Amino acid sequence: MDYMNGPGRHHLFVPGPVNIPEQVIRAMNRNNEDYRSPAIPALTKTLLEDVKKIFKTTSGTPFMFPTTGTGAWESALTNTLSPGDRIVSFLIGQFSLLWIDQQKRLNFNVDVVESEWGQGANLQVLASKLSQDQNHSIKAICIVHNETATGVTNDISAVRTLLDHYKHPALLLVDGVSSICALDFRMDEWGVDVALTGSQKALSLPTGLGIVCASPKALEATKTSKSLKVFFDWNDYLKFYKLGTYWPYTPSIQLLYGLRAALDLIFEEGLDNVIARHARLGKATRLAVEAWGLKNCTQKEEWISNTVTAVVVPPNIDSTEIVKRAWKRYNLSLGLGLNKVAGKVFRIGHLGNLNELQLLGCLAGVEMILKDVGYPVVLGSGVAAASTYLQHHIPLIPSRI
Ligand SMILES: *Cc1c(COP(=O)(O)O)cnc(C)c1O
Repeated sequence: MDYMNGPGRHHLFVPGPVNIPEQVIRAMNRNNEDYRSPAIPALTKTLLEDVKKIFKTTSGTPFMFPTTGTGAWESALTNTLSPGDRIVSFLIGQFSLLWIDQQKRLNFNVDVVESEWGQGANLQVLASKLSQDQNHSIKAICIVHNETATGVTNDISAVRTLLDHYKHPALLLVDGVSSICALDFRMDEWGVDVALTGSQKALSLPTGLGIVCASPKALEATKTSKSLKVFFDWNDYLKFYKLGTYWPYTPSIQLLYGLRAALDLIFEEGLDNVIARHARLGKATRLAVEAWGLKNCTQKEEWISNTVTAVVVPPNIDSTEIVKRAWKRYNLSLGLGLNKVAGKVFRIGHLGNLNELQLLGCLAGVEMILKDVGYPVVLGSGVAAASTYLQHHIPLIPSRI
């Protein structure tokens, strides 16, 4: 047999789906129930209030769809835009590529701004497009906050600054699937019109919940949007919000209880502490990569990602082999290189409900694999670089002081 489960814990270090904490697993271990009973609307009401906090919005309206990140994309586009609308969209890796493909298939007029994989969105090109667009033909800017394929984080506040500078009314649609709840994300402050995430990434839930948050301006745009939408129509939800029953169709009851538990954990730790923890994990991973003498796929410091690190392997090594070996020999899951960077990078996901010692275990595993495939790594070098840094930066656990 090629693949089998080993003893002990599996080390899941793909950048989504990520580990689910025990508290959340237990909260979801329950029977189905009647979603028209008073309990589910009461639970939903608290969830809709509380998910706003992870987007850092008070003015936004959240929608929770039984879907994945891909469905959340579709909901953002079809509720606010009409076929033929011009969209400026940044292509910097596999996830932005897939979103652009969806935009094209939904018949929008996509103006693609491409960067080399490993670089962030080219905002100079955006500035020149905005400055030339006197008659406001650009209806939306679509940008992936954190490109999970290359480990590149874009500066969303800089996009808002440009839109404001040119007094341009285009909507700002942001994919926050591998950032919201892990990286600094400020929907209101950055003037984001639609922000979205999926449950299996930083929220550390099973797959199946797409959470979309719309600004008042995005809600206004639904009135003129002519895109065909049925399942993802925000207006169906708004009708049921008014009635206080919340759900136009059956929600995943277990996922709602899971979301409640996940949010409780996040708020108990403190959202800003969660973000700081991700910054520590990201930094420790990058220090390990440096100690191994390998390069990060992210080309500049300004784009580094604290949720995923794509490690570039030397040309004589196939990164797919590293990922295979991790699974077979060490019970460790690493992310594959996707599309243009297939075979060239492997990815370490360090997002969600995860602590520093778990990460060190992963880094130790990566070192052994590198040695297995013939890369001259000094065992312990990356772990030492990471643990030396972490030892100085791990705070006391507040509840144990
Ligand atoms: C995972 C991911 C998606 C796609 O989400 P699915 O849940 O697989 O549909 C979209 N964008 C980013 C940035 C992602 O990381």
